[in-house]
Amino acid sequence: MTIDNYSFQGKKAIVRVDFNVPLDDKGQITDDTRIRGALPTLQKILTDGGALILMSHMGKPKGKPSDKLSLKQIVPALSQALNRPVLFAPDCAKAQEQAAALKAGEVLLLENLRFYPEEEGKPVGIDKADPAYEEAKKAMKSKQKEFAKTLASYADCYVNDAFGTAHRKHASTAVIADYFDADHKMLGLLMEKEVQAVENVLNNINRPFTAIMGGSKVSTKIGIITNLLNKVDNLIICGGMTYTFVKAMGGKIGTSICEDEQLQLALDILEQAKQKGVQLVLATDTVVANRFAEDADTQVCPSNAIPDNWMGMDIGPESSVLFAKYIESAKTILWNGPAGVFEMDKFAKGSEAIARSIAKATANGAYSLIGGGDSVACINKLHLADQVSYISTGGGALLEAIEGKTLPGVAAING
Ligand code: AMP
Repeated sequence: MTIDNYSFQGKKAIVRVDFNVPLDDKGQITDDTRIRGALPTLQKILTDGGALILMSHMGKPKGKPSDKLSLKQIVPALSQALNRPVLFAPDCAKAQEQAAALKAGEVLLLENLRFYPEEEGKPVGIDKADPAYEEAKKAMKSKQKEFAKTLASYADCYVNDAFGTAHRKHASTAVIADYFDADHKMLGLLMEKEVQAVENVLNNINRPFTAIMGGSKVSTKIGIITNLLNKVDNLIICGGMTYTFVKAMGGKIGTSICEDEQLQLALDILEQAKQKGVQLVLATDTVVANRFAEDADTQVCPSNAIPDNWMGMDIGPESSVLFAKYIESAKTILWNGPAGVFEMDKFAKGSEAIARSIAKATANGAYSLIGGGDSVACINKLHLADQVSYISTGGGALLEAIEGKTLPGVAAING
């Protein structure tokens, strides 16, 4: 079933949203992007004449209630966004009566799902090495099913609009779907957009396709890089990962970040790229610093000739021009991970140049997908959000989807 084809009139919909919003010390929301992201789905259901039961996690309460992580804090903001009162169920597993009393147009928000360990389905208070762990895991899985069944009992249909947790097989993101038939479960509009965005860069590719992978470590991006080698025409590797590649090729990297245990892997990636006809692009010059600090001394040098006691902090100006050539001529672009230590303004120039090149390519008709907190922050800082094709709300979920993995939250609905 799709959300557009379903009439919610007179129906109660239980919707898994991602309301894991950042809060300040006073419990005020500091960034409501995630709430805004869910609105199209919520409005569609209310406009149809349905009632909403909303469920989400917030933070990591590890299976125990915590005032600081109570979703009650977001009721005023949600109420304002939906332009109507929002009822609150202080115990997500004991909301039968409140759910039953809900009328068309009404909204009930359930308390943080992760106050129950059943949501994540991992046994608590027992070490993985403990011989009793497997038994405890089995028992928890069965409690998880019961928990999901209770949540399902509140509603006539289930909508999953929480892309950020779609890579988790939790009670509310996947297990609950077992209690609805195919005609009564569907992806929300945000999820549909996210899934389509991934589809665009994995399967509906307009060429050339340039992917830009940055960030600190090769080891955490290896799955994605390997999958992308089968898809892209150009793969730009930047950020701290650069120096593992440069060292593997025999360059001098000073005190730059490097994963010595991944040197062979870097050589393998270079070899695979060659065999697959992928242009693998590394920074030719680097901004180096004598300390990991904003006020460090800096200079620009070739990426493979970094002086002793200096560390690579950003790509250099020559590399920005080189990268721009591959980005601005592309028709499909994926960007994940910064080109340098962008948290310090002095070393953000490379990432900013990438963001500007992507906006330029998009204006020329390219499809651009940006994912991962750091790259998105960079785009937002430069006010370029409306000049790229799609900004993903998913961190881990997006990376896993691009690695080619099936997301449990999507599979639970689409099969
Ligand atoms: P990741 O979480 O792997 O995507 O990496 C993001 C982090 O990589 C950011 O916090 C950056 O500061 C960091 N990073 C990028 N380039 C470098 C570099 N040359 N040296 C050290 N850290 C870097």
